[in-house]
Amino acid sequence: MSTPQLHQLGVAELAAKLATRDVSSTEVTQHLLARARQHSHLGAYLAFNDEAAMAQAKAADARLAAGERSPLLGVPLAHKDIFVTRDLPTTAGSKILENYRSPFDATVVAKLATAGMVNLGKLNCDEFAMGSGNDNSAYGPARNPWDPERIPGGSSGGSAAAVAARLVPAATGTDTGGSIRQPASLTGITGIKPTYGRCSRYGMVAFASSLDQAGPMARSALDCALLLSAMAGPDLDRDSTSLDRPAEDFAAGLLAQTGIANNSMESSAGGQKSLKGLRIGLPKEFFGEGCAPGVQAALRAALAEFEKLGATLVDISLPRTELSIPVYYIIAPAEASSNLSRFDGVKFGHRARQYTDLADMYQKSRTEGFGPEVQKRIMIGTYVLSHGYYDAYYLQAQKIRRLIAQDFQQAFTQCDVIAGPVSPTVAWNIGEKSEDPVANYLADIYTLSTSLAGLPGMSIPAGFGEHGMPVGLQLIGNYFKEAQLLGTAHQFQLATDWHTRAPAEFSA
Ligand code: GLN
Repeated sequence: MSTPQLHQLGVAELAAKLATRDVSSTEVTQHLLARARQHSHLGAYLAFNDEAAMAQAKAADARLAAGERSPLLGVPLAHKDIFVTRDLPTTAGSKILENYRSPFDATVVAKLATAGMVNLGKLNCDEFAMGSGNDNSAYGPARNPWDPERIPGGSSGGSAAAVAARLVPAATGTDTGGSIRQPASLTGITGIKPTYGRCSRYGMVAFASSLDQAGPMARSALDCALLLSAMAGPDLDRDSTSLDRPAEDFAAGLLAQTGIANNSMESSAGGQKSLKGLRIGLPKEFFGEGCAPGVQAALRAALAEFEKLGATLVDISLPRTELSIPVYYIIAPAEASSNLSRFDGVKFGHRARQYTDLADMYQKSRTEGFGPEVQKRIMIGTYVLSHGYYDAYYLQAQKIRRLIAQDFQQAFTQCDVIAGPVSPTVAWNIGEKSEDPVANYLADIYTLSTSLAGLPGMSIPAGFGEHGMPVGLQLIGNYFKEAQLLGTAHQFQLATDWHTRAPAEFSA
């Protein structure tokens, strides 16, 4: 076997090579920074961290040389540009934050740096994470490496494109209503949105605070587990909604199975019924009409694979699935309208050059700074929160949100994990849905309910559908069951190779 190029190595493989000193962090960092620039047409990166990244890589090499071993030490990553960073500007994909520089690092950024990861830069995303295609970014679209005319999904589109094109082994993302799972699905990578509160939201530019959650995006469940172990954990002094649960080592059980720890890629689980006893629930609402035939076919084949591994499939129902769309598109804009009131031309970012008085300054700064989708959501959010409409919209939506969460608890009496599509179709063409906002919102049907309930959910590569584009399978777990989700996904990935596929142009 020829020696793989540095960019072909995932997180665990790279960590193993760094630990044996076969490669240095400096070498990998240089290689990936150059590679990212070579493929700048993908629009994945918004900023490169050249100097600081090289300093971090050198520091990691010194620690490795001194014999220190930890699973992420010296491994590069890049951050969705919604996490604030001291080294680099943070835009949240918005003109209103152009050139904004945070005085501190987001908790997730700081934790991954402490774990020894090297931050290569900031990745493109929809403005304030509002979107499903990365086509709402004020800095231009990110493109799908499988077909650059198509969207990579959103809002963490830059993260997905960068990982799928092997520009970086892993990236951070955020998921408010699907923004980790959907782009992972549309680009053939793995991503997990943990239970709400697992990761601190401190330093994540807020979209909808009761829904926003950070998570890793990488090639495999194992790589995601390695990152999540470092990202998660309480941060109660700075985010009172972070969960007061000790961080877990999500990767420990998985590493033993891949054999990466002892340098062999051979699976010890090959051919064994490793998922024996696992009940996978299939909500009938997830497999109905609206889901494209090519997507359904790929998912059915993946589910047959789960059965071969010993899992049983059970029919379940999530009866309020359709309601998750109106409920989410009331609650998320309501919270956004409140969160975005801080961008007033005074405290942060853009201020209009000319104005007559204070009110005019607010108005002009916000009109110039916010893009059309964000303005629309601020208006919807303000409307549903207004006196006279609050009860009819916001309160009602909150009540249905509670029922959606209860439906999941009912379902989990019949199964251990829930499986279904992530997106009803494969990635669409850039611009295809820009005239039709409702079409965009409807495509979120399979991801929103998980977010509204605060449950963990992930997307794993499960084959290819229409136009030869990647299809992701969604796995949803009960609260705090990330380890079970990652373990289930890992067993599937030991038995299949969808997660190792890269677009031809990027696989050499
Ligand atoms: N597509 C959804 C929206 O536009 C979800 C976005 C997200 O998860 N950040 O709001």
